[in-house]
Amino acid sequence: MELQQLVDRIAAEVKPGGAVADYIPALARTDPHAFGLAVATLDGEVFRAGQHDRPFSIQSISKVFTLALALAENDDVWTRVGREPSGSPFNSLVQLETEQGVPRNPFINAGAVVVTDHLGLGASDRLLGFLRQESGNPAITIDPEVVKSELDHSDRNRALAHFMASYGNMRNPVDVVVHEYVRQCSIAMSCADLAKATLFLARHGVRNDGTRLLDVSGAKRVNAVMLTCGTYDAAGQFAYRVGLPGKSGVGGGIIAVVPGRCAICVWSPGLDARGNSVAGVDALDRFTTLTGWSVF
Ligand code: GLN
Repeated sequence: MELQQLVDRIAAEVKPGGAVADYIPALARTDPHAFGLAVATLDGEVFRAGQHDRPFSIQSISKVFTLALALAENDDVWTRVGREPSGSPFNSLVQLETEQGVPRNPFINAGAVVVTDHLGLGASDRLLGFLRQESGNPAITIDPEVVKSELDHSDRNRALAHFMASYGNMRNPVDVVVHEYVRQCSIAMSCADLAKATLFLARHGVRNDGTRLLDVSGAKRVNAVMLTCGTYDAAGQFAYRVGLPGKSGVGGGIIAVVPGRCAICVWSPGLDARGNSVAGVDALDRFTTLTGWSVF
């Protein structure tokens, strides 16, 4: 089946469901039934369906790109954050005490806050520049309404950061780091732009302009952490159903990588109890089942 037919079929068959994230009030206004899908292939084509060009809040999908930017410098970030699945909700505090302020992995909130701290001041602007370049869309912005809404409701992320600071695992002031983290989560992008920006992971670390962000091992490692930790306490179920490295966000987006072939982004704001898009996981499940493309 042609890829365009395939994405059209998936868009026609999935049934968006679940509830939008409402702990960030600005996200609560999104239509839970919206749906968009884009598949960007290594030869530069983008296959699109539904609301593929409508920007949405990327939220935790940003964690993949900040990890990649940190690893592009060196491996030091691994002294401050682990790479084991947490089996806990994305915003959980419980493991931090028994594990002395070192988060399980970079894709739960505590781990992502450490990565942002590692990148330091200006992390969110660096990330924005990277995403604009990789997608080829200079109009991508940070949504100020989401920033404000999230900052007004960030007690939990501040608590995580203060707790890590108490163990000496925070270099910059908590308020500065949480602000950078909230800005990176509040970037608004479409499925098509996110699929293009994720392609470097399908290209084994090579950016759109042909330069390298990560070496082959570095890209393999980011993909591996996505597979094991990218959908939090549902990562086992995601690997079972989809069989690809994937990363979700509470805005309803999920990116997934087929190494050597393509990058996919799907968006539908209705979430399951673990914070992953219901129709998003369903669409990726159908995609890998229909194409036979997975890492297994
Ligand atoms: N900005 C959100 C938070 O910190 C990101 C969570 C997510 O997308 N899972 O709670």
